[in-house]
Amino acid sequence: MSKGARLSEIHTGNSVFIENVKGNGTFRQRIGEMGFVKGKKITVIKNAPLNDPIEFSLMGYNVSLRRSEASLIEVSPGSGPEVSDEPVYTENITDGPAPGQSGHIIKVAVVGNPNSGKTTIFNFASGSRERVGNYTGVTIDAKTATFRLGKYVIQLTDLPGTYSLSAFSPEELFVRDFILLHRPDVVINIVDATSLERNLFLTTQLIDMNTKVVIALNMYDELLINRDRFDYAALGRMLGIPFVPTIGARGKGIRRLFQKVIDVHCGKDPYQRDVRLNYGFEVEKSISKIQDKSRQVTGQEFIDGIPARFIALRLLNKDRHVEHLIVNVPRRQEILSTARNEVTRIEHLMGDTTESVITDSRYGFIAGALRETFRPGPSDRRKTSNRIDHLLTNRYLGFPVFLFFLWLMFTFTFTLGIYPQNWIENGVSLLGNMLNNNMADGSLKQLLIEGIIGGVGGVIVFLPNILILFFFISVMEDTGYMARAAFIMDKLMHKIGLHGKSFIPLVMGFGCNVPAIMATRTIENRSNRLLTMLINPFMSCSARLPVYILLIGAVFPDYKGTMLFGIYLTGIVVAILVALIFKNTFFRTSDAPFVMELPPYRIPTVRSTVKHMWYKASQYLKKMGGVILVASVLIWALGHYPVRINYSTDYEKEKAIVTRSFDKRITESSGDRLLVSGLQEERSQELKKIDFRMRSEHQEKSYIGLIGQFIEPAIRPLGFDWRMGVCLLTGVAAKEIVVSTMGVIYQAEDAGNNSYSLQERIRSATHAAGINQGKNVYTPLATVAFILFTLLYFPCVATIAAILKESGSWKWALFSVFYTTGLAWVLSFIVYNVGRFIIS
Ligand code: GDP
Ligand code: MG
Repeated sequence: MSKGARLSEIHTGNSVFIENVKGNGTFRQRIGEMGFVKGKKITVIKNAPLNDPIEFSLMGYNVSLRRSEASLIEVSPGSGPEVSDEPVYTENITDGPAPGQSGHIIKVAVVGNPNSGKTTIFNFASGSRERVGNYTGVTIDAKTATFRLGKYVIQLTDLPGTYSLSAFSPEELFVRDFILLHRPDVVINIVDATSLERNLFLTTQLIDMNTKVVIALNMYDELLINRDRFDYAALGRMLGIPFVPTIGARGKGIRRLFQKVIDVHCGKDPYQRDVRLNYGFEVEKSISKIQDKSRQVTGQEFIDGIPARFIALRLLNKDRHVEHLIVNVPRRQEILSTARNEVTRIEHLMGDTTESVITDSRYGFIAGALRETFRPGPSDRRKTSNRIDHLLTNRYLGFPVFLFFLWLMFTFTFTLGIYPQNWIENGVSLLGNMLNNNMADGSLKQLLIEGIIGGVGGVIVFLPNILILFFFISVMEDTGYMARAAFIMDKLMHKIGLHGKSFIPLVMGFGCNVPAIMATRTIENRSNRLLTMLINPFMSCSARLPVYILLIGAVFPDYKGTMLFGIYLTGIVVAILVALIFKNTFFRTSDAPFVMELPPYRIPTVRSTVKHMWYKASQYLKKMGGVILVASVLIWALGHYPVRINYSTDYEKEKAIVTRSFDKRITESSGDRLLVSGLQEERSQELKKIDFRMRSEHQEKSYIGLIGQFIEPAIRPLGFDWRMGVCLLTGVAAKEIVVSTMGVIYQAEDAGNNSYSLQERIRSATHAAGINQGKNVYTPLATVAFILFTLLYFPCVATIAAILKESGSWKWALFSVFYTTGLAWVLSFIVYNVGRFIIS
């Protein structure tokens, strides 16, 4: 192998040293922060079943890269020069801002790499002791819990996992802004003891931010098993940060951790001191220059409480976001232009980008510090993990095993879920009946029963499915299998511009779009996540199935299977096409590198799984419940009002006549009990029919009926009549409602002949007006158009609520309402009219 070979060309099992990383700045920085820096040893573990991506081992952890990305990395067989040998650190001489002396409340933030055990420790520490809240208004999840410890109240926030704080991803920006703007009193930096080198990278960035840090040396059990020797006390002294070994999964060391937090907060810890990393002569010179400039401009060491040194460093990293942090500085242009000059100077001098220079010296510092304090042991847990991987991401077995897991997840979620679902359904209808029997008739009663219990009940019945689904997801995430699923699916998903991690949410969409959209949270890249959310509604959820079954049964009884398959397939094809279009328009800019960690397999604890499930489920109830409640009340009200309408006939009089005539026959039957009960039965049937006609007419003349007739011109080109319009309107609340609305609307047409099934009625429904008056509504073409419309239009309200919640913006929620409905209209129009043209 020659010098300058590409990483993508290296065979499985071989190790090489990184020489150089090519590609654009973002890619280089991202990958640099993950440890792809000059001189590091890297081993090729294996290819994914479709040969792409590739799994590597680097600095003691496993990571995957796409083949195209690996080809940007030049490697050589010999050992490259290590970046720096000197442990470069100096004590800080500047005074920090006065510590946030907030009485007995200590604000603590938990930061760390993904999978380092943040959530485990957060859950253990907060326990069931106090309220677990949830930050609203941000897309990214940060859980906060408040609990008492001795005479202090700890306000603990679990931040999203990040590898660095360079503000690449929304998560990184969020964590960084949280630390800079919320100013937690102490930051707990969770460090995975089995992957120190990579984890300490984040620590070096925390050091720059001048915040008080305590390191939780988590996974300490695995460090002991590996028989690594680590003098963490010495490293702590070097960094000016106390280390506390913890075993998050078993709750060990957590009391000590928080005791340490209190000590550090009170300034009682002997290790805690301000340390300043040294980035080498040239960079330090530039930092000083920018710092001098900012001191000259502002007259202070801090800008809005943010250390000028940090700002200088970030400016040297060409960080756009940091410019926002100093917008209030009047002459900030002078600082910015000094920084630009310094960037040019360093890049010219060093022949490398400033980002790389700074990242390299961070890793150089870490390598130096670990050389003095860390000795790896003989055994390696990686080996077991790689052995399991051998099976699960195997060239031949990878896909079958994955399909089996998916099948298992689906079967359990939607088959097993039916039982508890029925219990809840029964409970809901019991409650409805109870109110029905105990309340006086009137609008309030109907609002409660039809609007609120009907609407919210419709959401709660999905709770078991969601719990089961999230059980599987949380097990897949906690064991580390989720990353493998993304690994083997990435090549296919990448073809439509998505990430391997988008696959699972899309598959889940066939069950229910709501949890599916919630599951997109595992996708780190925001634009990929948005794209996955936007195409998710085309995965035909189970609520749409009753509509298809009804209409196919009515119009295409001979082609049930084919039609159903065709519908699902159409949804998938539309999703792919839309993804391709969006990827080439709105989301063109951001094709984030695939770099994804493949964490070692771990056995999840029951405790963390249950917590995880419950947290997701309660979120579902809270968020969806609110929106669904409002929407169902609204739709109910539109169908309910105006209460008084001009009926075409006097139904009350009809009822009275029927009652009277039956009463007469009952009296005449001279007490023949059989006859009497038969007549009573017949009477109630007749009254029901009249009631139904009345309700149907009421629906026609209610606001929703009026809207249906109002929009009829818009849907007539698709071959629909106003009744179909009403069904589609009510289906906005939940797609199952399309069928129940049809039940109400069409029952009226043949109320005289009760033996007709709903399918019969649909088959015989005719246009009431227009050029097609008297002709059948549900022609094969119109039916196909209607099914297509139902498949594609307006994802239900709960889905929109989920998109709103997960994307954090009304913009995307509204966008998905309009583009799906627009697309549904256009495609149905094409199908209906092209079809008519062909037939005629
Ligand atoms: P997060 O991504 O940082 O929130 O990490 P999690 O809290 O989800 O933990 C990731 C995995 O590591 C889970 O499977 C945990 O059960 C496991 N874990 C957490 N702490 C420890 C520990 O101290 N030792 C071991 N062996 N596993 C742990
Ligand atoms: Mg977590």
